[in-house]
Amino acid sequence: MSSTRDIDALIEMMAKLPGLGPRSARRAVLHLIRKRALLLSPLADLMQEVAATARECVSCGNIGTSDVCNICASEKRANGELCVVEDVADLWAMERAGGFKGRYHVLGGTLSALDAIGPEDLRIPRLIDRVSTEGISEVILALNATVDGQTTAHYIADQLESRVRLTSLAQGVPIGGELDYLDDGTISAALRARKDI
Ligand SMILES: [Zn+2]
Repeated sequence: MSSTRDIDALIEMMAKLPGLGPRSARRAVLHLIRKRALLLSPLADLMQEVAATARECVSCGNIGTSDVCNICASEKRANGELCVVEDVADLWAMERAGGFKGRYHVLGGTLSALDAIGPEDLRIPRLIDRVSTEGISEVILALNATVDGQTTAHYIADQLESRVRLTSLAQGVPIGGELDYLDDGTISAALRARKDI
């Protein structure tokens, strides 16, 4: 039994990943070991690399391997539009969908009375700061259509009202929908049909 201890430990770790259970973790590990040179070794190297270099962008909260992410670093993305999302996964979903040419702001969650999460616990003060210092003309609130997501959108709208054009994603986003689970076409359509708040 001890001869498979490390492999068992690897399977146990993999099973903790979102979307993987013990069964798919076993299959994945078996596959990795069989493709040691092609998959396992490069994966191990990359994981070590990412573990050492991954960090949050100091400006928007995106995750990358430098202090300022590619989107914030690109002058082309400074078009005055700022898209506010809850989570990095939402930012990546918007980027996959394409169509948005501005920059992002990742809140890092939503306001929640239940969990005692207030504006200071999220990147809301930084958002307000960016709106005044980065020449932002439109803030697109691309928050999830959940109760907490919408509460957060209203709070931000109150803070920024009269300083900037405020819009939100329109049709196509199902009630209770989360951006990361939507197909790219739905996100693009919702972005194009965004409405003023
Ligand atoms: Zn950034």
